[in-house]
Amino acid sequence: MPTYDLTCKDCGEKFDRFVMRLLRDDDKICPKCGSVNVGVGFGGGILGTGSGSDSRGSRTCGPGAFG
Ligand SMILES: [Zn+2]
Repeated sequence: MPTYDLTCKDCGEKFDRFVMRLLRDDDKICPKCGSVNVGVGFGGGILGTGSGSDSRGSRTCGPGAFG
């Protein structure tokens, strides 16, 4: 589902638009301050931090086969 992640560049308000089409200028209006200076991103795609304990031991830099 196309969800656009919008961020107002004036007041920093973050909101999203759910439209089945391209965004128009009317959609890119901050609901908080009414500014049209809104940045458009893509929402619901990138998940940064993962859950679960990351107890994976990192391999230390030892004397390996180098050359
Ligand atoms: Zn705003």
